Order: sequence, then structure tokens, then C-alpha cells
Amino acid sequence: MIRIDIATLFPDMCEAFLSESIIGRARKAGAVELNCHNIRSYALDKHRRVDDKPFGGGTGMVMQAQPIYDCVKAIEETLPEGMKPRLIYMSPQGRTLTQSIVKELAAEESLILLCGHYEGVDARVLEELAFEEISVGDYVVTGGELPALMLADAVCRLQPGVLPNEDAYSDESHFDGLLEYPQYTRPEEWRGRRVPEILLSGHHENIDKWRRGKSLEVTREKRPDLLINREIGKINNNG
Ligand code: SAM
Repeated sequence: MIRIDIATLFPDMCEAFLSESIIGRARKAGAVELNCHNIRSYALDKHRRVDDKPFGGGTGMVMQAQPIYDCVKAIEETLPEGMKPRLIYMSPQGRTLTQSIVKELAAEESLILLCGHYEGVDARVLEELAFEEISVGDYVVTGGELPALMLADAVCRLQPGVLPNEDAYSDESHFDGLLEYPQYTRPEEWRGRRVPEILLSGHHENIDKWRRGKSLEVTREKRPDLLINREIGKINNNG
């Protein structure tokens, strides 16, 4: 079972998301362990200050190294003997999160996700603890909480016991480099639009064939770059 610890100034924001729906149920069932930690609890001064003005001037505040360092060390102390966490700072400067990175992280025993806020964090704590950096895309949001929750959610849904079975994620967009085929549900006809007849046929082999074809068609139409990357990957894998 994977354990994910989130270090943040807004643990309630993270808890609210992680207590609901599929992830909330998976936590209750013990399929994943997720903990949120308040970096402010590790502030040393009486005002529980965790940020300060940037050296060199400029707008905004920078999160200080010491409370982050102490928070991460305290989390590490609670890990079972021998468990080695992977330390990840959610950052717009990191490598962009993809399904293949998600699969790689899903195979870890423990992740510690650091959420920055304001202007970010003092660079020295990232060096000291050798954080790797992961981004959710080439844009900037106000804090690392949403990015950390996106990463945690994507990693958790690949854990055994979180979704009903492996098909629930292996069929989906990006799992094997393609986008998913279109989905339909009741009614069979809506505003004059009928569900493709093949999906009503009950012929599973033909349905699978149709879905594979649609998956390729949709990928070619919406994300031709994925098909090119998939071909390059195949060539590289074949030596
Ligand atoms: N000053 C930083 C910079 O220009 O690189 C951006 C700071 S941002 C306003 C505050 C925090 O939000 C960051 O420390 C990071 O944790 C998080 N964040 C913002 N955009 C992100 C992204 N695209 N991916 C992951 N985390 C992000």
C-alpha cells in the first residue's frame, strides 16, 4: 500500500478533497494511506511565522526553509523502518506530470509532496533535502495544493483496491499512449442522436474492435502528437 504525505500550509484544503468520493472511500478501506501535515506547526517563533520577504527585493513572500525541513523530518520519523520516501516539490519549474510519471510514482512505497505558496520556497531547503520537482503544466497557480492533490489522485487510482478492477484505468486515456473511445449511457436516443448500434449489439469482440478503432481516430483528431510519440517509443523499444 502506498503512503502519501502532503506538507502544506493549508491541510484542511487537502483533507476536504481527500475525504470525498473514490479516494475518500479508498482511504477508509485502507487501500491507500494519505496524511496532510501543517508546515506552520513547525514554526519556531511565537507568531508561528513561516514566510519572509525575499532577499534581493521583489514582491511577495517566500516560505522559510526551517519549518519545511522540520516538517519533512518529522514525517520521515513516522515512516515504518526502512521505508524510503520520494521527496517531491510541486513546482511550475519541474518536469511535467504525465501518465508515465504517474505509473512510475505509483510503484513507490512512500511519497512526500511539498506544496509551496506565495512566491515559492527558499531554494536551500530543496537542495538540502534533494527534492525532485514536478509541475502540473506550464502555467502558475497560487499554491502547490491543487497540483499535489492532482498527483496524489492520479497515483492513488492505480493502487490495487481503489478502482473496481484494472480495466477501470488501463482502458483510459493516456494509459497506453492513446485517448479513450467515446462513451455513451442511457437513453439510447437523446435529442435525435442515437448511440452507435454496435454498442447495443452485445457482441463483445466487435465492440472491442470498434473501440480500438475509435480510440485511434479520436487520438489522431485531438492529439496527433501522442501518436507520433507512441511510434517513436515503439522504434526506440525495438532497438
Ligand atoms: N515564484 C514561482 C515561480 O515563478 O516559479 C511560482 C510560485 S507559485 C505562485 C506558488 C506555489 O504554487 C509554488 O511554490 C508551487 O508549489 C505551486 N505551483 C504553482 N504552479 C504550479 C505548477 N504549474 N505545478 C506545480 N506546482 C505549482
